[in-house]
Amino acid sequence: MWLGSCQGRDTARRPGAPLLVATTSLAADALRQVAWPGAEVRALMGPGTDPHLFKPSLADVRLLAEADVIVAGGLHLEGKMSEVLHKLSAHKRVLFLSDSIAPSALRYGEGMASAPDPHIWFDVRLWRQGVVGVGHRLAQLYPNKAGVILAQTQSYADTLDALQAWVQHATSRVPAQRRILVTSHDAFSYFGQAYGYEIKTLQGISTLSDFGLKDVGNLVAYLKARQVATIFPETSMPPQTLLAIQEASARAGHSVKLGPELYTDALASPGTEAATYTGMIRYNVNAITHAHTAR
Ligand SMILES: [Zn+2]
Repeated sequence: MWLGSCQGRDTARRPGAPLLVATTSLAADALRQVAWPGAEVRALMGPGTDPHLFKPSLADVRLLAEADVIVAGGLHLEGKMSEVLHKLSAHKRVLFLSDSIAPSALRYGEGMASAPDPHIWFDVRLWRQGVVGVGHRLAQLYPNKAGVILAQTQSYADTLDALQAWVQHATSRVPAQRRILVTSHDAFSYFGQAYGYEIKTLQGISTLSDFGLKDVGNLVAYLKARQVATIFPETSMPPQTLLAIQEASARAGHSVKLGPELYTDALASPGTEAATYTGMIRYNVNAITHAHTAR
């Protein structure tokens, strides 16, 4: 399996197997769930990679050019790859997980009326729609594998239905007034909407956006007013932002803990709990709900 950056990439193709290339680790997981055994699935971005800032290397662009099908998150999640993906889509199958999401279900960041929030995976029902959509398109592209692709897609959709029920149950046990989630960038808007959490962040839906001292002051005032005990770093973001909040909050007389790092835009390394989408959601939801019930 392909993991980190481009060094040491095994470029040998499996003879005769179509090459399916995913951009993010989440897209690769979706692809692996629905693809038939024997299909070759590779990911450009490894664990911990921030897709908003990811710039494809020459080797990445070559792999994309070689791919038979490309699967991406879409909605400008892969901000610096948008142009490359757009160019490739002129003569290659590029499937976006966001293509199956109804426009009315999309959310928009503050002051971002024209740019939908790409973090659809934090509402399990939306991710299910995205993965099922990719499964169906893949079945159309490979009709001789359609039986197995559609069976796997249905089976995974059932898994996601069970996950949705579990998340609803776990979050519903946290009293509504304590359902507050503070992280560094705004990845959890769909989660907030789906499971009744108030979301506060310093950065917007892309990690490219900047923040100022006034924003820090506002967030600290909020933490104090709402007696928020835990704020959460993210594995694909540097922790400095949250450390600055923690210090500013302590200076204002309100101490906050840093919770365990949440997996927001990238999965964990293989062999760990959060290495798959379902594992990542369970890990995050356990961390989020325990932090707020432990008080
Ligand atoms: Zn993000």
